[in-house]
Formats: sequence, structure tokens, C-alpha cells
Amino acid sequence: MTRTTPRLRFDAFLATHSDDWYVDDPLLHRLLDRHAPDADRARLVAWGPTVAGRLRALAEESACPENAPRLRHRDAHDRRVDEVVLPASTLEALSVVHGEAGLGAVRGDPFVHYAMTYLLAQNGEAGVACSLACTDGLVRALDALGDAGPHRTAVRQVRESLPDGYVHGAQFVTEIQGGSDVPANEARAVPDGDRYRIHGQKWFCSNIAADWFLVTARSRTATGDGTHVGLFLVPAYRGPGRERNGYTIDRLKDKLGTRELATAEVMFDGAEAWAVGPTERGLAHLLRYVLTPSRFACVLFAAAALRRAERIAGEYARFREAFGRPIAEYPLVSRTLEQIATARAAALGCAFELLRLWEAAESPDRQDHHATDFRILLSLAKPVLTRQATALLHEAMSILGGNGIEERFSPLPRLYRDSAIMEIWEGPHNVLFTQALNDLCRFQVDAEAFVERLLGSPRPEIAGPLAAAMDGRTRPGGDGTVALAGLAPTLVRAVGQAAVDRASGVPAR
Ligand SMILES: Cc1cc2nc3c(=O)[nH]c(=O)nc-3n(C[C@H](O)[C@H](O)[C@H](O)COP(=O)(O)OP(=O)(O)OC[C@H]3O[C@@H](n4cnc5c(N)ncnc54)[C@H](O)[C@@H]3O)c2cc1C
Repeated sequence: MTRTTPRLRFDAFLATHSDDWYVDDPLLHRLLDRHAPDADRARLVAWGPTVAGRLRALAEESACPENAPRLRHRDAHDRRVDEVVLPASTLEALSVVHGEAGLGAVRGDPFVHYAMTYLLAQNGEAGVACSLACTDGLVRALDALGDAGPHRTAVRQVRESLPDGYVHGAQFVTEIQGGSDVPANEARAVPDGDRYRIHGQKWFCSNIAADWFLVTARSRTATGDGTHVGLFLVPAYRGPGRERNGYTIDRLKDKLGTRELATAEVMFDGAEAWAVGPTERGLAHLLRYVLTPSRFACVLFAAAALRRAERIAGEYARFREAFGRPIAEYPLVSRTLEQIATARAAALGCAFELLRLWEAAESPDRQDHHATDFRILLSLAKPVLTRQATALLHEAMSILGGNGIEERFSPLPRLYRDSAIMEIWEGPHNVLFTQALNDLCRFQVDAEAFVERLLGSPRPEIAGPLAAAMDGRTRPGGDGTVALAGLAPTLVRAVGQAAVDRASGVPAR
């Protein structure tokens, strides 16, 4: 009996997949040419095939349900160990990003560093993205404020990471009664000689397999007449036997997205800790050094996920035929592809603009507005771009029809679920829009000048409503957050498009 060969195979579709995500991204090259013209690109050249090949395969392996992180509470002799069991694929990926690529702390040109992060994030969380963002925050906080032995040890260990011995960080702020309202933290830091002891529960602890934690906790003021939330460094282990440092891992979260990442509920009961900076400045330091890199990582993720969606949906639309034509030829499909491409370009442009402002804000010759512009733009960009990424990943999935919702056919369902987490993690939409409006008012930002600085030309149609939102806040009984949230997508996309135009030699609109 002769067997008939199925008419359709996916080989032609698979053959169109890029095997070098750096080389095939002309916009990334243009943005790097503009912002880091003299930077050595050798790391990026090597990274392009690594992310599209080895790390892509590891991400897909880690995403298999049977490879989900597990918690083993007790060892063979009934000792409580709370071991977090990660699959070999995640451990190898962590070793590549920390030990081989050295991405845990910014080294070399920051534009090249974060371009590598953007390329990596095209694989989704994959058990590594959160680790990198948290380690970045840890190193930034300790570089700026660290003065104790453990502070220096942590930074040195991260910077000296090798493939067979890497060190990374995590950050635990959120408690059961709320994550946005950090001043309501109830975990306590009790002074104990030259250190503190942490007591209390943390409700969402991602990258729980890390070596060093940054933890917020309430402590007494120096004068002892009140309390405030400070920032503390907590080693994951203590003693020669590497016992857990005074905490238990009680449960792993069963999450919609970022499923390759172990996120835990943790109870601290006397963990040794060292204050990072003056404890009464804990919230300011948390925002500046810890939450800022994580929020920026969410922006990079949004651009990266859309880049992957653009590729996969475009390749599929050119491959798949319906009613005798490639579906890419139907205007409804091509319009969706165009929307994804435009959004991805603007998201990446906005990420580069944010990084330019961040670098300027941290440089010795900064101007007054750099730090404010960066802070406000980041608070607007994170919610706008992550929400947009989720919506467009959904559209990209629908271009693949039934195959679009099949978990193994493409990474789009996984990226979609990860993107939903990026919307919540490190500050949900409302909280960030509110923070942006608070900052606009607190720093008495001139709306016209702010918009002109970001867009390169006066834009009264944006500056006018921005000033009105600020007026809304200052009027008795007024608010302004709803108006700002409504305006934010227009402003953020315009900033991104302006950055793309500048990198492409297009005059300001
Ligand atoms: C997968 C995952 C991993 C995480 N990992 C970590 C981690 O490693 N470390 C960590 O510390 N946290 C982590 N988190 C927690 C995350 O940062 C919080 O969920 C987030 O900050 C929001 O806090 P919440 O969930 O308590 O929501 P809430 O703060 O209770 O907010 C609930 C709702 O109220 C709204 N809201 C709050 N305040 C206002 C306001 N002033 N105006 C208008 N609306 C408001 C919010 O926008 C939100 O919609 C993680 C979360 C997830 C989902």
C-alpha cells in the first residue's frame, strides 16, 4: 500500500526563521549608531546567534510543563531544606547569561549591554530575565550605597561570575497586604550589633534561587520615635553548610506567566541582614536603584516581545495560504502586521530614549531636567508599552490561527502570558500613572518644555492636555490621573517614533 505524503509541511515556514537576531535588526543598528557610535559591537555580534540558537532552544525546553520549577521542602533525612529545583535547561541558561555573557551588571557600553538584554528578552522570561533585572538593581544599589563587607562581597561575586559559578540577586518588597503601598510594609528589621534581623512575610519573591536578596523592612528611626521602611541586603545562605539564612520558602506561586521563573512566598524569622544606605531613605533608594532597572527591563521586554511577534507572524503570513493567496496579501492581515512593526519600532525607540536620559541623569554634567524627564517618562512608558505588547501579542497569535494558541508551535502564547506579568510586576498601570502625575506636579514641570525636550519640536496637541491633567491634580477636589492615563499612549508612542526618526535621519515632525 502506498502512503500519501501530507500536502502541507511547515518546513518552508521553519526555514524562514532567522538564526541571528542581531544581524537581522536594522533598526537596532541605527539606534546603536546614533547613541553608541564608538562602542565595540563584538559582544553583540557573538550574541545574535546565541540568543536565536542556543538560548532559544533552552527557553523552549524550560517552558515544557514537566520542567516547571519545584520546591522540595525536606531532604532524605527529613531536614527542612526548601530546595528550589530548576531544570537543567534553566541552569544552563543562567550560566550563559551570567557566567559567559556577564549580563548581571552593566559592563562596557550601557547601550550595548541593554541591546544584549533586548535580544535575550525575545525568548521571553525563560527563567533568566527576572534574574538579570534584579541583579542589575542589586549591583546598582550596592555600588552606590554599599559600605559593609557583605555589600562588597555581593558585588564582587556578581562581577566575577563564571559559567560554573555565577551569583545573582532578587528583590522582595511585596507583602500580603499590598505591593504598591510599600510604606505599609510590616516585615521588621531589628538591629543586632552591626547588622539587623529580618522578621515577617514576603508574598511574591521571584528568582528565589538567587544568592543575595534585597529586602524592604520596617525599622526604627535613629531617634527611636517612629519607624520607616528601609532597604536591606540579605544573603540567601549562611554558615559553612550553606543553610538558609533564617527564612522558609513556604510555597511556589502557580502563575499565569513567567512560569519558568520560581516565585515564592517566604517567611523571614531572624535572617541576618545589612542596611543598604540610611534606613530612613529606604523608599527613595528602592525606587532609584532597584525598581528603576526592573521597570526599564519591562520596557525592553515589550520591545523584544513585539520584535519576536513581528518576525513569527510575518513569516507565517507569507507562508500560509488561504483561498489561494498568502494571507499576508489580505489587507486585514497586512494591517495587523504593520501595527505590530510600528509598535515594536516605537517601543525600541522609546527604550533608547529612556536609556539616553538615564545615562544623562547619572552623569556628572547632568542638567536639572534629565533625572525628572527620565523618571516621568519611565513611569508612563512601562504601563503603556507592556499593555500594548500584550494586546499585539494577542493579535500576532490570531494571525497564526489555531496554531497561534498551540503552546509548542510558537513561543507567542508564552510571550503573551509573560507580557501580562510585565504589566503588573514592578508597578501596575494605575500606580505608575499616579506616580508620573505626582512627579509632574511636585517638580513643577513645564508641560510645553517637557514635551519639546522629548519630541524635539513643540507639540501643543500633546502639551496642552498634559498641562490640563496637571491642572486637574492641583484643583481642589480634582484628580488628573484619568486624563494622564488617557494621554500617556499618545505621548509615549510619539517619543518612540521621534527617537526612531532621529536615528533614521527623518526631520522632527
Ligand atoms: C509573577 C509575579 C512576580 C512577582 N515578583 C515579585 C518579586 O520578586 N518581588 C516583589 O517584591 N514583588 C513581586 N511581585 C509583586 C508585584 O510587584 C505586585 O503584584 C505589584 O507591585 C502590585 O502589588 P499588589 O499585587 O499587591 O497589588 P495592589 O498594590 O494591591 O494593587 C491592586 C490594584 O490597585 C491599584 N492601585 C493601587 N494603588 C492605587 C492608587 N494609588 N491609585 C489607583 N489604583 C491603585 C493597582 O493599580 C492594582 O490594579 C510579583 C508579581 C507577579 C505577578
